[in-house]
Amino acid sequence: MDNASGSDMLVGMTLSKLCLACGLCCDGSLFRFVPAQESEAELHLKLGLPVVQQSGRAAMALPCRRLSERQCTVYEERPSGCRAYVCRLGDELERGEVSFAHALAVVREAQRRIAALAAAWPGEGPVVQSATLAALEADSSLSDAAYELLADARSWIDQELHWPEDSRACPSPPMGERG
Ligand code: SF4
Ligand code: SF4
Repeated sequence: MDNASGSDMLVGMTLSKLCLACGLCCDGSLFRFVPAQESEAELHLKLGLPVVQQSGRAAMALPCRRLSERQCTVYEERPSGCRAYVCRLGDELERGEVSFAHALAVVREAQRRIAALAAAWPGEGPVVQSATLAALEADSSLSDAAYELLADARSWIDQELHWPEDSRACPSPPMGERG
């Protein structure tokens, strides 16, 4: 970022402001894993972010233990696997295609829909993941109302926030990996 222009830096700051209000790609709502680099083993150790093997590759499991509420507590030092990912909404913000106010409203609405699902679904772990798994397994404890809330949250995320073509996303299949 040494050569970044003033406007580039401003855009970067705006995206980081959005991310620090969001956290959906860190809390397990979108993904279950973040790819990790073997060369960053010391950094992971220092940050308290264990590396596991996932499908033969190094990864960190989500939800991330360095997420507090919706904020990354190690944002400036976060590993490269974290830095590499920007969702579609963040990309649109970076390109100046949407305003910060719009992007924040989209994030807030996604959070509201996920919270509504969480209130209706008693499953463990990240609620979008666990409810999706329950739906795929035809778990009878997932009520019709909860199923509709799940579809509602997934639909909003797919349409407004996430890359629709990214098969690593949570909703389908549920074993997502970001990167
Ligand atoms: S989902 Fe997008 S806006 Fe939210 S934290 Fe991740 S990159 Fe940032
Ligand atoms: S280290 Fe920060 S950016 Fe990376 S997954 Fe954890 S909370 Fe998210």
